[in-house]
Parts: sequence; C-alpha cells; structure tokens
Amino acid sequence: MKDGFGRRIDYLRVSVTDRCNLRCIYCMPEAGIPQIEHSAILRLEEIQQLVELIHQALNLRKIRITGGEPLVRRGIVSLVKSMAPLAETTMTTNGILLPKFSAELHAAGLSRVNISIDSLKNQVIREVTRRDVSLEMIEEAIGSAKANCLDPVKVNCVVLKGVNSDEPAEMIKWASGMGVTMRFIEHMPMTGSVCSHVAGDEILTGICAELGPVKKISTEGTAEMYVTDSGIRFGIIAPVGGGMCANCTRLRLTAEGELLPCLAGGESLDLGLMLRSGRKDSEIISAVHDLVAKKPHHGACGGVSMWRIGG
Ligand code: SAM
Ligand code: SF4
Repeated sequence: MKDGFGRRIDYLRVSVTDRCNLRCIYCMPEAGIPQIEHSAILRLEEIQQLVELIHQALNLRKIRITGGEPLVRRGIVSLVKSMAPLAETTMTTNGILLPKFSAELHAAGLSRVNISIDSLKNQVIREVTRRDVSLEMIEEAIGSAKANCLDPVKVNCVVLKGVNSDEPAEMIKWASGMGVTMRFIEHMPMTGSVCSHVAGDEILTGICAELGPVKKISTEGTAEMYVTDSGIRFGIIAPVGGGMCANCTRLRLTAEGELLPCLAGGESLDLGLMLRSGRKDSEIISAVHDLVAKKPHHGACGGVSMWRIGG
C-alpha cells in the first residue's frame, strides 16, 4: 500500500524487547530503562499474530527484528521461524550473543544481520557500551554470522564527537579486511542519549582527508553508499536533517504492540490493545491501512527512545 506521499510502505521493523545486555551512551540511560511491566510486553504468539496481520494489510517485502537487544528475548528463534515465510527477515543486533545463535537463526530462515560496533579500541568500546565488550567479541560475532550464511553483514557505527569521530577511515579499512560493509550513522538526539552529533557531511570530509577522494555510487535504503579509490564500499546514514524521509518505506512495531508510522513519533496505533480486546482481524487490518494513509512526510528526531523503537 502507498501512503499519502506515494511511498510504498512494505518494510516493518519489529522491536521484540525493550531489554538489552549493553547500555550504549547514545541509546540508553546508565541506570537502565524504566521497567515496563512484563504483562505489557507482547507474548511471542501476539507478536507473530500482529506481524501476520500487518503482512496481510501491506504485503510486506522485508521484516527487520530489533530491540533492545533481540537476542536476549527468549524464543527469538521460533519468532524468526514464524516471520521468515512472510518476507525477507533480517536482524539488527549488538552481536554479543550471536556466536551462540547464528546457526539456529540461519536454520530458522533469517537471511542476514546488521551488527553494531562503534570503535576499534577496546577502551572506547567499553566507554560507549558501558559494559566489558571487546573488539575480539565483535569479530567473533561477524565470523559466526558469515560462517552461517547470515550475510552480507553490515556493520553500524554511530559517530560521536570526541569519542570515535577520528576512527571512520580506520574502520573502513578494518571492515574491508573482515569482508563486511561499514555504515556510519549520524547520532540522533533521542531520549536517554547523552552524546554529541557529527553531521554526515563532516563524517565524509574526515574520511576523505585520510583515504582520499571517494565516489557516491548508490542509495541503499537509508544509506548513501560511497566507494574509496582503493575500491572499498561504505555507507553514511544521515537521518537528522530529514534527508532520508522522502524514500521512507517503514513502519515500526514496539515490544508493547504500538505501531509507529515514523521514527520521530507522531500519531500511532495501539495494536497490542486492539488484539487483547478481541478486535476482529479485519478491524486491525483496516486500522493499519488508516495509519499508513496518515504517515507524515517527515518528522523531527527526539522525544522517543531508540531502545524502545529499535532504531
Ligand atoms: N541492540 C541492537 C543493536 O544495537 O544493534 C538493536 C537495537 S539498536 C536500538 C538499533 C540501531 O540503532 C543500532 O545500530 C544503534 O547503533 C542505533 N542507535 C541507537 N541509538 C541511536 C542514536 N541515538 N542515534 C543513532 N542511532 C542509534
Ligand atoms: Fe542496547 Fe542496541 Fe541500545 Fe546499545 S544500541 S543499548 S546494544 S539496544
């Protein structure tokens, strides 16, 4: 189905939990997140039911499972198994638990993963995640994803002024050696985040200063893709100026069952409540159509939390 601006809305991001085993400084408060009552979080069967109804409404092309950290949700493999027959099913993860799950996720039908890493320096990784995470752990996660055909692997880095803003060029070379594609994300000033923003243009200028001129080659979803003189591809995702909004094809389902038409918030639909109050499938499908028709053209980031809506 197309929205009011002619965009085909066929990509659903599903946050399966608000919990996480890390506390990234750009995402969650150090003290942790406000505890959402366990009963408010959708059960696995409820997530499955809602995703099927949204698929009936929109004929989804792609589903991305996210969180919080999706791999801390019990039953994650069976959830993947229920979604994979509907549309291409992918996952965004911090990678910590990936070596344990890669083989099962692949067998369940997951097609690929995006993994987050924000530095090549262990001290900075620990500073950003506020946990004892190392480069070796992330390299192991990438290795297990590739060994289990969850590829091409994309690696996401949120660029933070004075923290890792001197690292993109080195990370591009590292990613090339690992056989993965690096993507740099502008920091969005969301609730819970305590960092400084570096604009996409500034990230690119820093990369060119170290690696020489780069060429823009394509747009892949929300990422502008570039190639260096030595042939290494990388991406820049710059949501803050709203430049990606014109091509947005996404809806987001939170772990409590709220369907959001825009990362920046706006009017939403409480599908969890509709499901639990016994509304008919046809009513839920029609409400999804109404929400898509009202999807805003663009929004201003802020006021919502990444761990809740899944990035
Ligand atoms: N826990 C998983 C992970 O970190 O990959 C999935 C959830 S996380 C909320 C999804 C994506 O959002 C990650 O790539 C993360 O880097 C990104 N993210 C979180 N907070 C952000 C912020 N304030 N600005 C930009 N990206 C952010
Ligand atoms: Fe957890 Fe991902 Fe947020 Fe980091 S970005 S705190 S790993 S949900």
